[in-house]
Amino acid sequence: MSSWDTDVRRALRASVRRFTESEIVPNLAAWEDAGAIPRELHRAAAAADLLGVGFPESAGGSGGTRVDAMVVTEEVIQSGGSSGLVAALFTHGIGLPHLIQAGDPQLVDLVARPVLAGEKIVSLAITEPEAGSDVASLRTRAVRDGDEYVVSGSKLYITSGTRADFFTVAVRTGGEGARGISLLLVERERPGVGVSAPLRKMGWLCSDTAELNFDEVRVPVANLIGAENAGFYSIMNQFAAERLSLAVQAYATAQRCVDLTLDWITRRQTFGRPLAGRQVVRHRVAEMARCTDVARTYTRAVADAWQAGEDVVARVAMAKNTAVAACDFVVDNAVQLHGGLGYMRESEVERHYRDSRILGIGGGTNEIMTEVVARLLVP
Ligand SMILES: Cc1cc2nc3c(=O)[nH]c(=O)nc-3n(C[C@H](O)[C@H](O)[C@H](O)COP(=O)(O)OP(=O)(O)OC[C@H]3O[C@@H](n4cnc5c(N)ncnc54)[C@H](O)[C@@H]3O)c2cc1C
Repeated sequence: MSSWDTDVRRALRASVRRFTESEIVPNLAAWEDAGAIPRELHRAAAAADLLGVGFPESAGGSGGTRVDAMVVTEEVIQSGGSSGLVAALFTHGIGLPHLIQAGDPQLVDLVARPVLAGEKIVSLAITEPEAGSDVASLRTRAVRDGDEYVVSGSKLYITSGTRADFFTVAVRTGGEGARGISLLLVERERPGVGVSAPLRKMGWLCSDTAELNFDEVRVPVANLIGAENAGFYSIMNQFAAERLSLAVQAYATAQRCVDLTLDWITRRQTFGRPLAGRQVVRHRVAEMARCTDVARTYTRAVADAWQAGEDVVARVAMAKNTAVAACDFVVDNAVQLHGGLGYMRESEVERHYRDSRILGIGGGTNEIMTEVVARLLVP
């Protein structure tokens, strides 16, 4: 039996499916139109014991491993949610781990507990207008002044940024390059923190995205996450989980689109026969299923190896690119096989087609993933 399909994980899947079908699916279209999910959904997900999966109980989580959190992601998408919904509701999956790993009890109490209880929202703010793939060139400065840092600079494309109460911000506390970067917790209410209106996007419409501006924001030194100038290594360390999660989102989206397409081709009749009766259609769907299963099998194996503590940097990058390529192929064909309906907002595959375009960009682009592999492979 697969480690992703144990009795415990089957029970977890069942509770995620119940939550998704009752709390998410009936409201998702409205949240897409509104451009955000409500805070109430965070509280409901916490009450259903889903928000804290993969986070230690000592920090307010509900225990389990990060692979359990990936099981939650799979199941939300496969039971009618979306990658955009996952991005919005589980932003703490990228915003909290550095802080929890650093283990400062005061920051855990201030941030992790209320976030995992669904009361507060935390975002991760690394990307800047002039620094995306090249994280080591970021410019937002935090200058020490007594027992405070004074933070100046801006951040771009920050998921849940318009709603967040806390930001885990990558700042420059030292010299140029990777060795001068730290992580700092910035509360939204601090004077000088500016948050833009929601940025208008192609997909992930229920997931709000913001630009942040820090204008000489004073933050206590106690808000430092981990050691000063060690932020880059913490960011790189946590990238594995983010990239694996995006790979999971990609193959889960693909699986959902395979399922929706199978249902559609048995119902849709053309020229007096169901689409499912045409060999060209049957083979197309068989290829969609093949790509999806390869992506899932490989990504899950890499995730298990990562959870076991193996060095999987290159394989994580390969998994992300494999799953994204599978997803791109599947969503494109799902729309095509749905015909005109596939282009309509009322069809679920249309949303997956738009939503999934970000998966090869966020958390490290396809090109950067290939570069990671090449750097480790080619002498
Ligand atoms: C919806 C959305 C949500 C996001 N959420 C967050 C968030 O919560 N927090 C956060 O910090 N960031 C977030 N991001 C930012 C995201 O991580 C970056 O957009 C991504 O890392 C790419 O950076 P960039 O946009 O600056 O592109 P660039 O780095 O400018 O890249 C542009 C193109 O050049 C290519 N390229 C770059 N360098 C090389 C190279 N050396 N060799 C070959 N090709 C190269 C890239 O692959 C890409 O195709 C989000 C972005 C989006 C769109």
